[in-house]
Amino acid sequence: MLTIGAFARASRLSPKALRLYDELDLLRPARVDPDTGYRYYAAEQLERARLVAWLRRLGMPLAGIRHVCALEPADAAREIRAHWARVEAQTAMRRDLAAFLIDHLSAEPGKDPAMLELRYFAHSDPGHVRPANQDTAYAGTRLLAVADGFGPAGAPASGAAVEALRFLDTADIPAGGVLDLLDDAVRGAAEAVRDVAEGTEEAGTTLTALVWTGSRLALAHIGDSRAYLLRDGRLSRITHDHTLVQSMVDEGRLTPEEAATHPQRTLLLKALTGGGPDAFPDLCLHEPRPGDRYLLCSDGLPAVVPDDRVHALLASHPAPDQAVHALVAAANEAGGPDNVSCVVADVVDRGA
Ligand code: MG
Repeated sequence: MLTIGAFARASRLSPKALRLYDELDLLRPARVDPDTGYRYYAAEQLERARLVAWLRRLGMPLAGIRHVCALEPADAAREIRAHWARVEAQTAMRRDLAAFLIDHLSAEPGKDPAMLELRYFAHSDPGHVRPANQDTAYAGTRLLAVADGFGPAGAPASGAAVEALRFLDTADIPAGGVLDLLDDAVRGAAEAVRDVAEGTEEAGTTLTALVWTGSRLALAHIGDSRAYLLRDGRLSRITHDHTLVQSMVDEGRLTPEEAATHPQRTLLLKALTGGGPDAFPDLCLHEPRPGDRYLLCSDGLPAVVPDDRVHALLASHPAPDQAVHALVAAANEAGGPDNVSCVVADVVDRGA
């Protein structure tokens, strides 16, 4: 048995930290003297003490540390990888928001940052297999949206979600308040879906929407519809699928190739549904540049048309309507197993 002082020296932790870990139930002493209250530790506890210290330095919450400490090393490693993937995703969102705030607060008052506007087109197609189209696609001067309904009330759910955002198309939107406005609008969409999807978690919709303030684009996203950005000839996806397989890819448990053919690849972790817990959308801001092309699509496109083909079709059709028709045709040529919806919007100089 080691005294707390000896154990502290051996583990390079302070006695104060050891007392804290004891209070937090992360590392109990092997024995506490009933008369003096002195804590004693076994030499075998050194490794756990170091692990607790490292996990605390990593910023892992206490419940997570307790969980990791109870696991076999391989499972503990997987859990730490998953924790870190979540931290990185949250950090990326906060980095975007910080960049926006810095930019917003350093802008010269009264100066219009850009004279830009959108050229857009939207189309939704039932595909070749499904009996009905449960997708809804919309494009207007300020609002672009795709929703993919599922379950018995899938079509009214996707329609209601987009309808609930329609007021944004004509609203005067201040760039500084657009995220709050969009957050409220998505809450409204969630209520509208709850009304039409009759209290069941089995029915609901995804929702991916962009709102144009005149100088910025605000993105709200929930589910597995997607948004892509074509900029300077490069295509990047700007949404993260809320699916089981995507979370397994993030945690290193599945490769993207395995995810594409996984039997549970359509299982959603988040959506707007008729019942169940409130689901919060990802929200972020984008700074558009002239020449940017945005694509919103339901999963019916990426499920059968690989990203490099999407890229080639977007790059080779200059007008938004041509690009949308080419993408929908590509999904249908690949069998059209699902409803497919696409919105393409180009950022152009006003009056160009
Ligand atoms: Mg779909």
